[in-house]
Amino acid sequence: MLTEAKIPVAIVGAAGRMGRMLCELAVASDELELVEAVDTAGHGMPAAAESDVLIGPAPSDRPRAVIEFALPAATATTIAHCRRHHQALVIGTTGLTDADHAAIDQAAADIPICQATNFSLVVNVLTQLAARAAQLLGDAYDIEIHEAHHRHKKDAPSGTALSIAQAICAATGRDNARDVLTSRAGDDVPRRPGQITVQALRLGDVVGEHTVHYATAGERMELKHIGTSRESYATGALRAAAWLTEQSPGRYTMSDVLGL
Ligand code: NAD
Repeated sequence: MLTEAKIPVAIVGAAGRMGRMLCELAVASDELELVEAVDTAGHGMPAAAESDVLIGPAPSDRPRAVIEFALPAATATTIAHCRRHHQALVIGTTGLTDADHAAIDQAAADIPICQATNFSLVVNVLTQLAARAAQLLGDAYDIEIHEAHHRHKKDAPSGTALSIAQAICAATGRDNARDVLTSRAGDDVPRRPGQITVQALRLGDVVGEHTVHYATAGERMELKHIGTSRESYATGALRAAAWLTEQSPGRYTMSDVLGL
């Protein structure tokens, strides 16, 4: 019986916290083959990437899919590379600019791309529940979001928290630019109806926590996700990479990958 060939993949940001977890899982995968571990850091490459895996500062044309968890400064180059070589692209890097999103939209004419601020199944379910709860509860309920991450995280608030706020806005007719605040400070800043504040804590080694609060006079509800390991994000990103290699060019979300 013929065994199906594994899908060759490259991981950009391979020496980072997410990159190391992705490399470990890709090496153990039955479906994917890690062929390139890419990072600009000259050290800290995962031990799993020592033997047959090409280690370097940029991907080649060999992978069928590229998975990037790095810094926003890397993303434009990764997109251009994948477009040039017709490779599927998974972008997990957060803190992307409007220009990065425009570049993703343009490249999606030529290659399949999945960009998501969170690749965990539970977080994607939570995002949908948060939007639905906001619809069901209506205008009398105040909504606030807070997130906590480890002390090294560069961007704040997290891309996941902003995506949850965006989903609530889309479901309830709020205007994302007008109604979502990323701080509340000052002498005269009472809550305005409809406003959603997104606040960030940076603490020790917290992997990632997101809580959506809904409250009115007399009661409060919280929807909360606690990430205890990076494995759920990495598993989701690898699943997205395999799925994308079967898709036509286009921009996909994690809900598309998960069929939610
Ligand atoms: P990290 O700082 O530990 O690792 C980032 C790595 O990227 C570093 O090793 C760095 O050297 C490398 N890098 C920087 N510029 C590069 C370039 N131009 N080319 C190649 N490599 C480059 O960060 P992390 O905790 O692993 O997180 C990485 C990114 O993933 C962040 O944006 C984070 O917010 C995001 N993240 C997303 C999810 C998700 O589910 N979407 C989950 C966790 C983290």
